[in-house]
Amino acid sequence: MVALWATCQCALPAAECGALRSEAEALGGSALDACGGSSRGRGYDARVNDAHEEQQFGAVTVLYGDRRGRYPSGNTLIVRGRDQSLAIDPSLGLVARGPQPPRVDRVLHSHCHEDHFAGSFLYPDLPWLFHEADLPGIRSLDALMDLYGYAEPIRSAWSKAVVAQFNFTPRPDATAYRSGEVFDLGGVTVEAIHAPGHTRGHCFLRIEPVGMVYLADVDLSSFGPYYGDAWSDLDDFERTLAMAREIDARYYATFHHIGVIEGKAPYVERLDRFAAVIADRERRLLAYLAEPRTLDEIVAHRFVYRPQDQVMFADAVERRSSALHIARLARDGRVREPEPGRYVRAQ
Ligand SMILES: [Zn+2]
Repeated sequence: MVALWATCQCALPAAECGALRSEAEALGGSALDACGGSSRGRGYDARVNDAHEEQQFGAVTVLYGDRRGRYPSGNTLIVRGRDQSLAIDPSLGLVARGPQPPRVDRVLHSHCHEDHFAGSFLYPDLPWLFHEADLPGIRSLDALMDLYGYAEPIRSAWSKAVVAQFNFTPRPDATAYRSGEVFDLGGVTVEAIHAPGHTRGHCFLRIEPVGMVYLADVDLSSFGPYYGDAWSDLDDFERTLAMAREIDARYYATFHHIGVIEGKAPYVERLDRFAAVIADRERRLLAYLAEPRTLDEIVAHRFVYRPQDQVMFADAVERRSSALHIARLARDGRVREPEPGRYVRAQ
């Protein structure tokens, strides 16, 4: 087993570190100050060496982001074939390398989230590609905000942040790709595998003959799956996780934090731990619903973030995530609504 960058380099226990990463997933980095990982608002100064780390896997160069791709950064892939090259998910880690990014022909995005297009502005003249289901998000700032679905005043604050800190650039001319589409770079292929749940259009990318599957934000972190946006779906995420478990590859790469894992056994072990977070959240929710509770009470109690986490978006993410759990628990007869707006565990 080779687990490359399998852990963050901060001094925190893995679970705590993972929770901080997730906070920042919603907030934009300030939570990482707590573990010393944030570069936001402080430039890239002391961590520039980390940002410059890279690793070659045949036709794939993994450009590790700040602190091995900790949010708000991420790991960008450059894939070079005989005829063409692709950049996959240009991150803040790419930006940190300077204004001259590696030369490529197209920019491919696994999904439309701020940290995955934060470096795409470095390629203003190239085609930008997104899965067809996520394509609307890059067309305008309003459409991107609809993807997140945060209510005011968070929506306005987040609008400013994705522009100022993640370099959002609307691209009404961005083009769509579909699941199963294969980009032939000349002796090297990149195949899109639709893997929704995190967002509607989230995709894995299989790169051959390297034998690498890029898992994007199925990031195998201790925080677990993130399905807190309007365009997230819990049932889709679970189907994606089941599909992911069947994927055979030599290397499994993530955008954040884990980096590249070699071999299926260590991959499945991490994937199972990642997936188990969903059942754990649901178990804790059901225990809390021993008495009738409103969604506001559930949000305040917290099942995704820790009660002490100071995260701008925590309530919105808790509300969306809990609503998804309650909807399916109600559908399965495990939760009932004794009066409008109150939910209780079915005995
Ligand atoms: Zn994402």
